[in-house]
Amino acid sequence: MPLLGSRAADNDWLASVLDQLPAAVYVTDAEGRLTYFNRAAAEFAGREPRIGADFWCISHRLLTRDGEHLPHDQCPMAVALREARPIRGIEAQAERPDGSCIPFMPFPTPLFDGGGRLVGGFNLLVDISERKQAEKRIADLSCNDALTGLPNRFALRSYLAERIERAKREGESLLVMRIDPDRFKCFNDEYGQTIGDGLLIELAKRLGSIEGTFAARMGADEFVLVSRHSLGGEHGVLQAEQVRSALQADFINGTARHAVSVSMGCARYPQDSDSETGLLDAANAALRLAKTEGRSRIRMFDFAEQERERERLDLRAHLRQAIETGAILLHYQPQFRADGSVVGFEALARWRHPTRGVVSPSLFIPAAEEGGLIAALGAHVLRAACREAVRWKEPLRVSVNISPLEFAADALPGLVEEVLIETGLDPERLELEITEGVMVTDSDRAMATLSRLRALGVRIALDDFGTGYSSLSYLHRFPLTTLKIDRSFVATLGVTLEAVAITRAIIQLGHALGIEVVAEGVETPEQLDFLICEGCDSTQGYLLGRPLDAAAYAPLTGSA
Ligand code: C2E
Ligand code: CA
Ligand code: CA
Repeated sequence: MPLLGSRAADNDWLASVLDQLPAAVYVTDAEGRLTYFNRAAAEFAGREPRIGADFWCISHRLLTRDGEHLPHDQCPMAVALREARPIRGIEAQAERPDGSCIPFMPFPTPLFDGGGRLVGGFNLLVDISERKQAEKRIADLSCNDALTGLPNRFALRSYLAERIERAKREGESLLVMRIDPDRFKCFNDEYGQTIGDGLLIELAKRLGSIEGTFAARMGADEFVLVSRHSLGGEHGVLQAEQVRSALQADFINGTARHAVSVSMGCARYPQDSDSETGLLDAANAALRLAKTEGRSRIRMFDFAEQERERERLDLRAHLRQAIETGAILLHYQPQFRADGSVVGFEALARWRHPTRGVVSPSLFIPAAEEGGLIAALGAHVLRAACREAVRWKEPLRVSVNISPLEFAADALPGLVEEVLIETGLDPERLELEITEGVMVTDSDRAMATLSRLRALGVRIALDDFGTGYSSLSYLHRFPLTTLKIDRSFVATLGVTLEAVAITRAIIQLGHALGIEVVAEGVETPEQLDFLICEGCDSTQGYLLGRPLDAAAYAPLTGSA
């Protein structure tokens, strides 16, 4: 005799109590056929169930919490009846006839008669929609950024990990773009945090509306966009450019209009890395480089470039010690007059590195400039060159390269004076090589510095002439003593007519202004002949002598 019999059972009062319950309740016989259901069960089913029908009609189609369909014999109620034990702790979803899903917890319990024989089952279905919604809100809060509503970096990481797995299976490429608004800190300082937040929200909105992509906020003012990488698009550059133009529309805040610019660093799966951390790091490295280049820049990750960057950082880290321990040496390259006599030597810095061998100044001078060590390095070179020159019997010149940063700092004339006094070198024998840039950036100041240096009696050479701004106006305004024709012109003397014309013009210009002209990078007898014919005052290059340590040139300098 099934419990309650039917809806019209003798214990009507119990049925009416159960009908008041907000939870669905039903009872079956030992085969799982419905013998009773309450009002909530009918509502749960989404249609009127029938006594005698399989219990299956109440929960309709059953899904696990992960959304997999459950076969009938694995339904908790079927298991409870088959195994004659209550089932607890399961969460499932019922798919309603209209396609909606209700998350619920079933409590199927087998029923036995006095002799311990299974006579049926009882099930209570508790709707847990509200709890699930609350859980989702909490999960959203921990996965979404509170300000912009975009997924945060935790959500990004799990998305990216999943996306990489899928890309692996399906042979896809991915593009990870790290995006950073330019000068956001200044914007915040200038307009206040509320407007700064407004800009971030606007950027998030623009990012979120780019179709087929996943946008996230990494933190602070940095965003990440993940998209499928269409290989045709110039290795991702075109895709990144489209994103940049979508983001760079003006930001309108009330009546104010602000220009927006962003820098971007991009990395690709699988070329640059096949892990989410690797891709994010690579895109970050590219972004850092983009940021050093100014505004609105896009950089694709480039392994070789990163290696060079790492090398520069490594050099920078060890440079101070190298200066202090004397690992920075000078080589000297001779300069000759047309008659073959020596005029002087250019001092060129060399770093004898314990593991890398001799490191080129083209690598460590920029590292010194970036690392704030150029003043120390410059002072060391100047001192060493002057000390060396006073040991020569012949009163030859020594030329020392001066970095634009060293020139811009006010200390140079003072340092030169100090070194001249300290070493006793005749100022006429010292030549400082500067580049055109120093005269262009702040010409009044450059003029003052050059005048002070000239007042000390030292010579000033303009290095790499022809490669920079080559404005003629400063040539007669500034107190220069020497022009050095850049080696790129000398190298193409026999190749292009322009090189011939430019070299000839520089020599004539120098002479017209009473300035000596030196050609550097002379490698062939033809170049030398041409320069001498054109009246170039002196020449320097591998043909005539490579940069070597001072001892190698003792026969020319006459030093002991
Ligand atoms: P730079 O002042 O133009 O120096 C001439 C460079 O050309 C030197 O390279 C020299 O070795 C090279 N060179 C000389 N003759 C020839 C030739 O016939 N053919 C070719 N292809 N090259 C030739 P290095 O020594 O590697 O120096 C590179 C640059 O590093 C220098 O260019 C200079 O700008 C900078 N530098 C070197 N020493 C110092 C220094 O003590 N202080 C500063 N601030 N810069 C330095
Ligand atoms: Ca030079
Ligand atoms: Ca040069």
